[in-house]
Amino acid sequence: EAKSSGRGRVRYFNNAMRKKLKRQADIENDLQHGIKNDEFELYFQPIFTLNQPHIVSFEALVRWHHPKAGLVSPDDFIPIAEHTGQIIDLDLHLLHVAAAQLQQWRRAGNPTIRITVNVSSRHFASLDFVDFMRSLYIKYQLPNGTLCLEITESGLIENLTLATRIIHGLAPLGVKLYLDDFGTGYSALGYLHQLPIHTLKIDKSFIDKLTNKENPLVDAILSLAESLKLNVVAEGIENPKQWALLKRKGCQLGQGYLVSKPLPAQKAMALLIKHTEVALSI
Ligand code: C2E
Ligand code: MG
Ligand code: MG
Ligand code: MG
Repeated sequence: EAKSSGRGRVRYFNNAMRKKLKRQADIENDLQHGIKNDEFELYFQPIFTLNQPHIVSFEALVRWHHPKAGLVSPDDFIPIAEHTGQIIDLDLHLLHVAAAQLQQWRRAGNPTIRITVNVSSRHFASLDFVDFMRSLYIKYQLPNGTLCLEITESGLIENLTLATRIIHGLAPLGVKLYLDDFGTGYSALGYLHQLPIHTLKIDKSFIDKLTNKENPLVDAILSLAESLKLNVVAEGIENPKQWALLKRKGCQLGQGYLVSKPLPAQKAMALLIKHTEVALSI
């Protein structure tokens, strides 16, 4: 009867809600331990020039070796860490990990290597972040501009004036800002002009649609970037058609499974060495 099924639905909803909240609370607890126990590993995915292809940098992407759940991907815990505020500690920890990796690679004889690290836009709410990045560059003896940042647009717009000051504060270190998932957020064009952004990363959803036909939005983003003098990275290139099309349209940089998935540090280094040899032999 209608009444009881209505109640049943409520009960089902409550159970689903309870499970979800329990899961979030578990992850919140586990995150705390995970940072202390060093359960997070950075994987690295190459960003390459579409012409050669030549690797110009690596994007650091976190993976969680959870003691019970195994390898957990960021989409399963980053949103929760954002919600609880734990993202701040996690990101600062991972910035240290990335900087240490960069120092090690440089010492091993790869002086041109660069890394971009994804960080929450929450960091762009305090000038302390500038001091943090400065101390990181000093501690790991990083040359200017070798460690850069990826952020999504949403959080930046909330406090544009402060975010702009922070980005200007990072500039003497050569820390460049990559605007991630471009095209999926607000995309209010006014702020783009105001913010000292270096590179737009075209979201994978736009690149997906390039396979069988043209996507006018990709053209629009490319010409927007050109007129604002910004660099562009196409995210999620999975097949040669997309590659060829983007190259023809004048997109300089790309990233995606076609060249490489995100890899553990050692494998990323092996890939870099292989690519460098190929590039040298051309
Ligand atoms: P993102 O920064 O936009 O990273 C791109 C995502 O697309 C990565 O997923 C990457 O593995 C995936 N990807 C790259 N190329 C391809 C492709 O050709 N095909 C397909 N299907 N996927 C591709 P991942 O590693 O799961 O990361 C998800 C998101 O989690 C990232 O999106 C980023 O927003 C966030 N994230 C990752 N690491 C960190 C971190 O250390 N701190 C913060 N705050 N966020 C992070
Ligand atoms: Mg990113
Ligand atoms: Mg992205
Ligand atoms: Mg993303």
